[in-house]
Amino acid sequence: MTSSLAPYAAFDERTRGRRFPETAPRFRTEFQRDRDRIIHSNAFRRLVYKTQVFVNHEGDLYRTRITHSLEVAQIARTVARALRINETLTEAICLAHDLGHTPFGHAGQDALNECMREYGGFEHNLQSLRVVDELEERYADFSGLNLTFECREGVLKHCSSQNARLLGDVGERFLNRTQPGLEAQLSNIADAIAYNNHDVDDGVRAGLITADELREVSVFARFHDEVVARYPATPPRRQLYETIRRMVDYLVSDVIMEAERRIAAARVDSIDSVRNQPQPLVSLSDGVLEEHQELKRFLRTKLYNHPKVRNVMDEARATLKSLFEGYLKEPSRLPVEHQALMARADAEGGEKARARVVADYVAGMTDRFAFLEDKRFLSR
Ligand code: MG
Repeated sequence: MTSSLAPYAAFDERTRGRRFPETAPRFRTEFQRDRDRIIHSNAFRRLVYKTQVFVNHEGDLYRTRITHSLEVAQIARTVARALRINETLTEAICLAHDLGHTPFGHAGQDALNECMREYGGFEHNLQSLRVVDELEERYADFSGLNLTFECREGVLKHCSSQNARLLGDVGERFLNRTQPGLEAQLSNIADAIAYNNHDVDDGVRAGLITADELREVSVFARFHDEVVARYPATPPRRQLYETIRRMVDYLVSDVIMEAERRIAAARVDSIDSVRNQPQPLVSLSDGVLEEHQELKRFLRTKLYNHPKVRNVMDEARATLKSLFEGYLKEPSRLPVEHQALMARADAEGGEKARARVVADYVAGMTDRFAFLEDKRFLSR
């Protein structure tokens, strides 16, 4: 398989390696090992019960973090194959990209960031890296999953320069403004293509936006017109799906063609020359990016800021805040092993380290566990 990869792909045998050296897997590639470790992690299983846009108990058909992650991986794998870059590494990065997400989606992340303001803040990308580098406890020889550098650089999509300085090799590109490998660049754009499109589906399903309203978005209107003209008697629900699949195909095709164009123009011949480019090479073309952003703006205004979504999210924010403050004040409410972590953190780093233990614990919660735990707090 490796031999069919383009020279600018990530090659298993040329990985920059793992933080703790291990013997090479016998029947798998290095990146297969990464992907398999991600799938076996506790954090991955918790994504089942974490909010994408709609809180898990609001309905069984909405995306959760795990189905979102699977859709991201599916989209990215198609592009990876077409570009002849490493499909397995791409899949691993996509499956891991949201491992650090708090319960309750972005409202949860914002709430925890506010709670952590005096203690170094909270950022879900950084937390995803923290999960795979530190927080998973499955292996005797190391904490975390000990993933390859290539996978770790993909998981860390964004990072402040302040935090980047603390991260060593994987933080360097945020300081010297270089790029990650193409597989990492791809997972980033696949994430956006996935959520923009599945949120249209979920938003309409929830009755918070309608196909009629969506027609103010030019890319939606164009494909919707095409579908309605071709299938006038088909139920609106199916017309919507047909529209969404056309939008996904349009965006994915554009990413492939634009990346091919940029790769050819930049004449990259290795992952290191990809890293040294001034701009990412995997991207939507300018015109399509503009259309994609129009859809994104629509979703922000009409769906993510819909009063019904905001009400649930306000409640969620309050829940996380109350949990965070409760544990920090009364560590005896934490599970026994976290109390031990708290005591150690206190000895080593005082209040700041204690707050990080609480943030890690709260961030790891599923939606329903957070709600239940908060009720338990209040009932005492
Ligand atoms: Mg995502």
